[in-house]
Amino acid sequence: PIYLDWNATAPLKQAAREAMRAALDDVGNASSPHGPGRRARRRVEDARAILARQLNIDPTRIVFTSGATEANTTALTGAHVLASAIEHPSVAVWAKSKIPVDARGLIDLDALDRMLGDDPLLSIVAVMAVNNETGVIQPIGEVADIVHRHGRRLHVDAVQAAGRLDLAPIAAVANTMSLSAHKLGGPQGIGALLLTDDLCATPLLRGGSQERRRRAGTENVAAIAGFGAAAAELQHDRATDVASLRDALEAGLKARADDLVIYGEGAPRVGNTSCFGAPDLPAETVLMALDLEQIAVSSGSACSSGAVEPSPVLLAMGVDPTAARTAIRVSMGPTSTRADIDRLLSAWGSLYDRRRRRAA
Ligand code: PLP
Repeated sequence: PIYLDWNATAPLKQAAREAMRAALDDVGNASSPHGPGRRARRRVEDARAILARQLNIDPTRIVFTSGATEANTTALTGAHVLASAIEHPSVAVWAKSKIPVDARGLIDLDALDRMLGDDPLLSIVAVMAVNNETGVIQPIGEVADIVHRHGRRLHVDAVQAAGRLDLAPIAAVANTMSLSAHKLGGPQGIGALLLTDDLCATPLLRGGSQERRRRAGTENVAAIAGFGAAAAELQHDRATDVASLRDALEAGLKARADDLVIYGEGAPRVGNTSCFGAPDLPAETVLMALDLEQIAVSSGSACSSGAVEPSPVLLAMGVDPTAARTAIRVSMGPTSTRADIDRLLSAWGSLYDRRRRRAA
């Protein structure tokens, strides 16, 4: 089987598997004041220290959550949120108004400036670092300058930036930031909210004093340990060249289909993601045909595949709904190979040719 859906979830790294196994084979509540408890506490704090080093922030600013959805929810609940028009649903759901993006998927900085000037009630601006469907990178430094000049707070969903961009410069300008372990080779169901300044988000879960009273409930020690072990390899992930695979994929697609459209092509993009479509080749058809050949890709975002709705991200970029329904997302990672891409190209190419012949 060929797995090219890393933006939906990445394969578990060996180091993460080992760290989790060791934690699972041990007993101990991280809050207990005895040997086993202290060992569990050590696993949690070691993971926190690894993340803190990657982000160049103080470890006390990291709150472990059940994932990025919970981190986003914690950061945004109850606030008047101005969000980009291409956010993940767990952010988009809180948006009172939306910052438009251009045809390449880049946010309109003038509109951001204007909207903040016009609406004094807006308290938090949410702009993702990297889009999960197109791989387009937002200019977070410039966004932060505008947001802070207006005296507002910036929340950055950095889930898809992990392993692809240096997270420290993002953490340096965001007021809050979210990460998810399963997108970087850790387990599903664990993430982090980074509070990079003293204005803490209101806890969603209260009661126990875990996570400095910012997230009550016994820590998921094994998942946190796996998260830390996976995060320790982020530099290595970033140093691995997947962009040349992406470029080979896109060149191969264009050679096979002169009407191919690549979404976000003109914008800065991370190297692992390609979102593309060809007219008359509906994403559902492609997905099913590739699945039969044991090639896993995605249509738009994982959340919208299965549904026939066109991706809101592509619609926000001005793509017409019919074209948006053809969009396929291929996402790779450090262990993806040229052979994976060649298999995909050959399967997609024959599908495209068959459609063409039928239409002729
Ligand atoms: N934000 C982005 C950009 C994502 O791609 C995802 C993935 O599903 C999430 C948030 C949600 O993360 P989680 O699955 O940890 O809740």
